[in-house]
Amino acid sequence: MPGRSDAGRFAPPPPSRFALPRAHRGVLEPRDREALLRVVMALLTTPTAPYFEDGVLRVVRALASEIPGVELRSDPHGNLLAARAGRGRRTLAFSAHLDHPGFHARLERGRPPSAVLHGGVPLANLPGARLRFHDPRDLRTVATARVERAAKDATGAVVAELDDVRGRLRAGTFGVFDLADGVVRGTRLHARVCDDLLGAAASLVALAILAREGHARPVACIFTRAEETGFVGCIGLLEAGLLPAATAVVGLECSPRRAAARVGHGPVVRVGDRLSTFDPELTGLLQDAGLRLAARASGFRHQRALMDGGACESTAYNAWGVPAGGACLALGHYHNQGARGGIAAEFVDWNDLEGLVALLVEAARAFDAPGTTAGPRQRLLQSYQRGRSLLAASTDRILGSATPQRASHGARR
Ligand SMILES: [Zn+2]
Repeated sequence: MPGRSDAGRFAPPPPSRFALPRAHRGVLEPRDREALLRVVMALLTTPTAPYFEDGVLRVVRALASEIPGVELRSDPHGNLLAARAGRGRRTLAFSAHLDHPGFHARLERGRPPSAVLHGGVPLANLPGARLRFHDPRDLRTVATARVERAAKDATGAVVAELDDVRGRLRAGTFGVFDLADGVVRGTRLHARVCDDLLGAAASLVALAILAREGHARPVACIFTRAEETGFVGCIGLLEAGLLPAATAVVGLECSPRRAAARVGHGPVVRVGDRLSTFDPELTGLLQDAGLRLAARASGFRHQRALMDGGACESTAYNAWGVPAGGACLALGHYHNQGARGGIAAEFVDWNDLEGLVALLVEAARAFDAPGTTAGPRQRLLQSYQRGRSLLAASTDRILGSATPQRASHGARR
């Protein structure tokens, strides 16, 4: 019978192993690496799905409220802002989403138990996937199940029919892929959810470092809901118009790896996504931060790429007139798509994550800093200064010969 308990016996989730990789690049201080691990563990061990961000929001609130000077504010849609005041007209905000593709339990009289997928996972990958269902109030497991088959219904919703249901599947519960919360092997972190809880983790740790440094200018973290279903939470936030005036955003993501953006080759300055290219000033801010870090720390490297394997909230921010750049981690097994079909843990490189934290901190240090002369125009002006005397010395010859040349060129034989 649908939803009926079969003795309530379900296996525990696959085991996790969180530890700092020994091989690291010396980009973060040891205490910040430890803090990052703690934040990552707290977030990744908390199940999430679109519209069921309850648990991760609680975790983010708790972690952000430990950071001195941070004020927390929810918008009318449950998106969360963690802001640190300072002197300056503009706020630099890091934005990450707290959901990940997942399932809403659906129980209808006379029908087999099923669940509706929210978020982009190809239909073909779903059959055979093991799911774990949670109560959003206390996150305890209420049931496990296996996807027997999946198909789109008349409304276009992806409905997974379930078998091998153990426990008590109830309406109002949500399902996640029954994968380990996180396993570190070598320098790789394999997890049910990298996208985008690692973006959230990076922004929280960057904010904590900036607070410790006594960062003087306004900085914030934005945590959005329901990104996977079309930036729904983010658009709600933008429509509500509650961002501080003159906010500039760095959208954070885990994005499918590319030929020019590889796992383990450093955080990615994301120049754009599948839908748009991003704000040049903020892209330059991140790029310059990466170059400065590379000059200071030999272990730091970064990549710069158009990450067109997906779209991200930076496109939404820019479309609503809030300038946004992007930074991301190159991601393997995007949205849990296994290399040979089926469902698998997503993975990133831990050192890329440490590099992302460093990149955000360095970008914030430079953003609106007095005397900062970064940016492409400044760099171009320097090469102009270097070359202008040669330009001037050769100009008389060029212009002097211009008229006769034009005449002879124009003369027909
Ligand atoms: Zn994402």
